[in-house]
Amino acid sequence: MTLRAFRGDLLSVPRDPLREPDAVRHEPDGLLVVEDGIVVARGPYADLAERFADVPVEPLPGLIVPGFIDAHVHYPQMDRIASHGEQLLDWLTRHIFPAEQAFADRAHADAVADAFLTELLRNGTTSALVFPTVHEQSVDALFEAALARRMRIVSGKVLMDLGPEGLADTPETARAESEALIARWRGRGRLGYAVTPRFALTSSDAQLQVAGALVAAHPDVLMHTHLAENVRECEAVAARFPDAYHYLDAYDRFGLVTPRSVFAHGVHLSDRACTRLAETGAGVAVCPSSNLFLGSGFFDFRQADAHGVTFGLGTDVGAGTTFSMLHTSGLAYQAALARDYPLDPFRALYLATAGSAALLHIGDRIGALEVGQEADFVILDCAATPLLARRTAGAGLAERLFALQILADDRAIARTYVLGDCAWTR
Ligand SMILES: [Zn+2]
Repeated sequence: MTLRAFRGDLLSVPRDPLREPDAVRHEPDGLLVVEDGIVVARGPYADLAERFADVPVEPLPGLIVPGFIDAHVHYPQMDRIASHGEQLLDWLTRHIFPAEQAFADRAHADAVADAFLTELLRNGTTSALVFPTVHEQSVDALFEAALARRMRIVSGKVLMDLGPEGLADTPETARAESEALIARWRGRGRLGYAVTPRFALTSSDAQLQVAGALVAAHPDVLMHTHLAENVRECEAVAARFPDAYHYLDAYDRFGLVTPRSVFAHGVHLSDRACTRLAETGAGVAVCPSSNLFLGSGFFDFRQADAHGVTFGLGTDVGAGTTFSMLHTSGLAYQAALARDYPLDPFRALYLATAGSAALLHIGDRIGALEVGQEADFVILDCAATPLLARRTAGAGLAERLFALQILADDRAIARTYVLGDCAWTR
């Protein structure tokens, strides 16, 4: 048992400031006390200094926020980021499916998983909900690498029996491999499992049924897929499921809409679909950089809030154009404003941390640097670039935070801590 303390400018947003205006927690001269990776005390330095007088204190420069949580990202796509020319369905066929076939090779999967986790930490991201590929070993590669780094990562084999040659499994192998992975990885380190049908068009009815059965049989897993991302995709789903009320209904009939369901995108949702998301407690991972890159559109934050839909933020690399959740929260502001709905910078920080943690059902463990939570945090450098230094000089907290969201990215991540240990330094 070792106690350690960190002194600095502490900021977190444990709850949604839209619903709870006093949710912002800020200690300009704060103390964070960590024991075996867990936060055991946090508050103003002046209040805690005496109680922890014997504990070594490490002063931290910059603004300290919880580690970012990427609620939707594809690790096998990291080397296809910035691939030119198409919207979703053609982009998948031309750029992504060929790249994912290489993950049949375990050594390739290991190498990319390692590079991917390094890139997350470089960007201040300490947890993520991750798409691997259809290959069972692509999950093993990611989980082994995350276990070694003690990171909180959630993932699960992709189900896609209607996928192209080389990437298509079957309902039977999908069930057997998912069951084997759940049995092999349950309870290890900080890892979590997600049943992961790619999207409605890449699974047969029989396989969607298998996915629903897996979710029902394992109440501790998440369900992770894509929903209503792109107009042409939505049209194809409507053609495939002519008697579904809407895209979400195509999943609903297979038992895939539950409180533990995470749907990436949700750019094109009917009010009826939003009502169904809200009443089931299923949530959306909003991915603004990806939506812009693939010409998919802008998530309707106003509609989601009006219905009380739960949502967090994701990068969706490789359709997303950045690993930085800081930059992604700035793009969320721009996406919301495109529909005349300004996003508060504290709320954007909430969505990138505690909000995404709640979406992933790990909000009790991470996301807010509260006592009892795991000590994953990031030091943000408000002077990371000359322009950022000028813009934040003398600025108040909200203005500094917003400038970071709009102007900064991995360059502003001075250090990333996992369970109280420095895991990356700029
Ligand atoms: Zn995606």
